[in-house]
Amino acid sequence: MINREMYALGAKRSAIRELAEYGWKRSAEIGAENVFDFSIGNPSVPAPECVRECMEDIIKNTDPVTLHGYTSAPGDIGCRNAVADELNNRFGSSFTGENLYLTCGASSSLNITLKALTCEGDEFIINAPFFPEYKVFIENQGGKAVIIPPDTDTFSLNLPELEKAVNEHTKAVIINSPNNPTGVVYSEASLKAISELLERKQEEYSHPIYIISDEPYREVVYEKEVPFIPHIYDNTVICYSYSKSLSLPGERIGYVLVPDAATDSKELISAVAGAGRALGYVCAPALFQRVIAKLSGKTADISVYQRNRDILYPALTEMGFDCVRPDGAFYLFMKCPDGDATSFCEKAKKYELLLVPGDGFGCPSYVRISYCVQTEKLLRSLKAFEALAKEYK
Ligand code: PLP
Repeated sequence: MINREMYALGAKRSAIRELAEYGWKRSAEIGAENVFDFSIGNPSVPAPECVRECMEDIIKNTDPVTLHGYTSAPGDIGCRNAVADELNNRFGSSFTGENLYLTCGASSSLNITLKALTCEGDEFIINAPFFPEYKVFIENQGGKAVIIPPDTDTFSLNLPELEKAVNEHTKAVIINSPNNPTGVVYSEASLKAISELLERKQEEYSHPIYIISDEPYREVVYEKEVPFIPHIYDNTVICYSYSKSLSLPGERIGYVLVPDAATDSKELISAVAGAGRALGYVCAPALFQRVIAKLSGKTADISVYQRNRDILYPALTEMGFDCVRPDGAFYLFMKCPDGDATSFCEKAKKYELLLVPGDGFGCPSYVRISYCVQTEKLLRSLKAFEALAKEYK
């Protein structure tokens, strides 16, 4: 007998992947240039030239046995120290490599962190709209996902609902800023407010409540600053990925960061190592451990995303669509005129526009538009959006 839950997960693809598959099929039929595929968050900007140069240098100058060999399970200590140093330079922190566990991107960082934290009966709070995989990850590591509704005025953290949702079973709150799917960056003030709330609740229930900060878009931000959450709340664990900042999603590299200031930090770091071991996430890709040791903190040319935001947001607003203005990442969240995202997305397909219904993100009357596409294509897509808007006038 095969595990039914795993069968169900594998047999039913995520809505995003399904739409992306449809896009690839449609591209083969009518030409990729004619499909306005805004489904998947695959960076459209190449990795910066320094990545290739760095890889060439590492390949040329590292003994081949070492180059392709195992590193220690949490990652090579030299590489972890280098990443910690770069974070310290940027944020004035004092991490060492011992605070870091290198992973295969944010997905594995999240699974490792959840497994390290989850005890029977634990609850993890997620604020809609949220990255759909959070629910899958939480449930598969044995926790209960508690979803709080969106604050549709700001799309920031919904503090009144968070206040109601936290209880004696709450182990952590997952937050994600810049956010997928809204592009919103949480302000310092809102992060201070959640920190005060959680500190009060920790007192009340006499146990730590962690913030799991999922940060694959940390550097993909336009005008605003992204506050560094460990400076605001001690019990923060960061789940980071280089997939978007360095445009390396296929290389699978990221980290879990457990600051010393977190409650039971030494035990938690050991539990992270244990979870990595139990899940088989040991020794992140060795070549890319060495690449990030040199290039952590650098980014691909994210100005392209800002340019796309500056075209798309005003254009859609002008057409009468109600949109959330993105501060970062490369997603725009848009309200469907009649509140029915599924039928809206089906209608959009008539114009070869592939948009993701908000259901999976916990907001069924919205759609997500991934504008990590060529600007020229984005400009051509506006006619299709106009035609779609006309259907609702
Ligand atoms: N978290 C969020 C919010 C994401 O948008 C993504 C990917 O799109 C991930 C996690 C997973 O990232 P990775 O590719 O590094 O596993």
